[in-house]
Amino acid sequence: MNSDDRERLELELAEAQAELLKLQKRLRDKADYGLGEGDPAIVQWEINLALLQKTQDKVQQLKEALENLQAGTYGVCARCGQRIQEERLTIVPQAKRCAACARVVQASRR
Ligand SMILES: [Zn+2]
Repeated sequence: MNSDDRERLELELAEAQAELLKLQKRLRDKADYGLGEGDPAIVQWEINLALLQKTQDKVQQLKEALENLQAGTYGVCARCGQRIQEERLTIVPQAKRCAACARVVQASRR
């Protein structure tokens, strides 16, 4: 564990939360830009809704990652117990599994 991890997670969390607010606002404004504009506005609204759900998940995962950091279990794969690769954490700081395990879990979901 090092301070870079914390900084990265806090930065990601701040960005995700800002994104969440932006999306919530856009979804609230639905009535405004939906008027008489037909399908494109509705499609856009649905895209925003999907994004909102994805961003909510991300915020949740980042919070958990920060808790794990506190507990000293951050960066350890939840499935095999190995350290998660540093490159992977740089790209996906909220990752709970190493790349190999993530692939196995993904495959088993299909
Ligand atoms: Zn693993």
